[in-house]
Amino acid sequence: MSYPRGSIRYVRYAVQIAFLLITLYAGWEFHQFVLHFEEPTRPFVPRPPSVDAYLPIGALMAFKYFVMTGTVEPIHPSGLIMFIAIVGVSLLLKKGFCGWICPVGTASQFAWMAGEKVLGRNFRIEQYTDIGLRSIKYVILSAFFWVIVVAMGSTMISMFFMSDYYLVADVKMLKFFTEMTSLTLWVLVGLVVLSVLYKNFWCRYLCPYGALLGIISRWSPLKIRRNEEKCIHCHACTEACPALIDVEKKDVVKSGDGQVGRYGNTQLVRDPQHPRGHFIVAGENGRRPAPAC
Ligand code: SF4
Repeated sequence: MSYPRGSIRYVRYAVQIAFLLITLYAGWEFHQFVLHFEEPTRPFVPRPPSVDAYLPIGALMAFKYFVMTGTVEPIHPSGLIMFIAIVGVSLLLKKGFCGWICPVGTASQFAWMAGEKVLGRNFRIEQYTDIGLRSIKYVILSAFFWVIVVAMGSTMISMFFMSDYYLVADVKMLKFFTEMTSLTLWVLVGLVVLSVLYKNFWCRYLCPYGALLGIISRWSPLKIRRNEEKCIHCHACTEACPALIDVEKKDVVKSGDGQVGRYGNTQLVRDPQHPRGHFIVAGENGRRPAPAC
């Protein structure tokens, strides 16, 4: 089976943009929902349940609570369902969520693509600094893991679910963006600038959710496999990989940073018909062009 060159990449862009628009629309709806209670003259707009997805810490607590008690917490139940779905996607398709669905990842990706277009390239952080920075997301994840999974029991979690704070946690998240302080604004501006200059800056260094999915994705049966016999060591795969994985030096890409699961259980080889930038993913039953990893 053959695919037009680059077609999978454009399908992925379309899916990413669709999820980004759905997210923005849900955010707008939620804003209208909150405004109705602040200014009762405004019409009532139903609360979109998908906003629960933006309470990942609550979702992790809800997951632990569900495992311990068999009960779905009733305040923001969609968060738990989406958390389980995202973890399931990561187990099956590695970081397919990051590569195809996450709106933050999409915004980050289009930021570095814009930077590449305007500046002619993206910058790379020096290797040892890069390793140090990559540990930040694991440190943040470990802190959450310690507090929620180790320290909090089911009673403490259920008390948190009943607290006034958790009842309006989604509203607080909204206000974080609609009534941001100057510090928040400057931090966001800094992140945007860094995302334009460096590929996937937020995802690579700071996102604890991505760190969790990266760890889970290691158990996925799907992997990119480089075909050593056909590889001509042209560096095209390493240069193209937005996760900065040195694909050329690996037989199997296992990195938790890679968003490579979308190719399935395949072999990555250079296509000799395309001198640069085009490499192919060869499955057991044929070959097809692939976008950058
Ligand atoms: S690393 Fe985090 S922000 Fe980036 S795509 Fe994955 S979940 Fe989204």
